[in-house]
Amino acid sequence: MHKLEKRAWAEPFKIKVVEPLRMTTREYRERALEEAGYNTFLLRSRDVYIDLLTDSGTNAMSDNQWAGMMLGDEAYAGSENYYHLEDKVRQYYGYKYLVPTHQGRGAEHLISQILIKPGDFVPGNMYFTTTRLHQELAGGTFVDVIIDEAHDPESLHPFKGNLDLGKLESLIQRVGANRISYVTAAATVNMAGGQPISMQNLRELRQLTAKHGIRVVLDATRAIENAWFIKQREAGYESHSMPDILLEMCSYTDACTMSGKKDLLVNIGGFLALNDTGIFEEARNLVVVYEGLHTYGGLAGRDLEAMARGIEEAVQEDHIRARVGQVEYVGERLLSIGIPIVVPIGGHAVFLDAKRFLPQIDQLQFPAQVLAAELYLESGIRTMERGIVSAGRDKVTGENVMPKLELVRLTFPRRVYTQAHCDVVTEAVEAVYDRRKKVRGLRMVYEPKYLRFFQTRFERL
Ligand SMILES: *Cc1c(COP(=O)(O)O)cnc(C)c1O
Repeated sequence: MHKLEKRAWAEPFKIKVVEPLRMTTREYRERALEEAGYNTFLLRSRDVYIDLLTDSGTNAMSDNQWAGMMLGDEAYAGSENYYHLEDKVRQYYGYKYLVPTHQGRGAEHLISQILIKPGDFVPGNMYFTTTRLHQELAGGTFVDVIIDEAHDPESLHPFKGNLDLGKLESLIQRVGANRISYVTAAATVNMAGGQPISMQNLRELRQLTAKHGIRVVLDATRAIENAWFIKQREAGYESHSMPDILLEMCSYTDACTMSGKKDLLVNIGGFLALNDTGIFEEARNLVVVYEGLHTYGGLAGRDLEAMARGIEEAVQEDHIRARVGQVEYVGERLLSIGIPIVVPIGGHAVFLDAKRFLPQIDQLQFPAQVLAAELYLESGIRTMERGIVSAGRDKVTGENVMPKLELVRLTFPRRVYTQAHCDVVTEAVEAVYDRRKKVRGLRMVYEPKYLRFFQTRFERL
């Protein structure tokens, strides 16, 4: 007779190198938080116990990747590692051409500058901060065409990242196809809670855009996590391999921008990959101005090598099962004690619903920012606001954009924390939940012009 439930996702690795963590007292954290203006981005990493700020560049590399770092070919031009990466991008993503960049936003910058004319529209399935900013800096206007369910943290739609093709079609009717630079399809959708897009939706998006001669650019940052959800949730894909699903997803798009700091298990790196020869030539030329020569794009040879090896590891089923499994483990534990989170649980993070967690705090007193601050105070856990502060101000009116979703993101670095750490996290959330009625709002005292969530400062009300 078995009494214990079987664990579905044990980590498919053992630990070879350790990095000590530092614990602090509540008094210490109170001071640190005040000095950081109640913005978790402004805390010092040494003052953080468990860092769930982001899964970006915080991955633990494998012994194989570290070994690859020693094989960095640091030639200025034509590095061996560039050709290795090009091979792997062609093999797993299927695009013909590769332009490496220092990280994802480098690729977003290039494609925005090349394809967007001032006055153009750029529809996409919910905005991402850097993506939208590069589109706007190039003179474009972002238009959100994600399905309505994505804005409802309680909707159980299995593919809340889907584009609403009706919304896209009416935009095309309204402004004309020639004023749409391209459509961004993000897989998964970070700002919606790490929600995936279905293969069927991508296929239909391709049919619609092909009819109007509009390009599709995939934000492939977490496309491997998205592929895992397709395998789990979409009829007909249960027995497809991860590489087959990824290739099919990419086949419905013309290009991708990639932050290797997420899916690809590295600490720095990204790329633009695409099929059109003319656009490739322009991108290869422009990258020299902003990033570096087209065979290194702002990266060292060793970084290119680590990313090439990371692709191969990221598509392994045992890796992705444990990666998404760990996030689901935390999410399900929180649900089981009644904590309001975004469902279904996303691929890279659990999102606390601050509107339901702290209903007494008005959105203009930054409930998600408050909750992130309280979690740090409680136990030294660092998380991130994804609500009104991240949404920024309207480009035209200058007013605060009031997003429906007011979330705190608990983001899990890949291969970094153990299950015991996960338990500490859920216990801390529970402790804040127990004293939630006593928590008060914040007031902004400093606000920078761009991507304000990184540097805004607050005071307690
Ligand atoms: C992180 C991220 C980016 C930008 O990539 P960087 O490497 O941080 O520049 C773009 N899109 C999504 C969905 C991301 O999560």
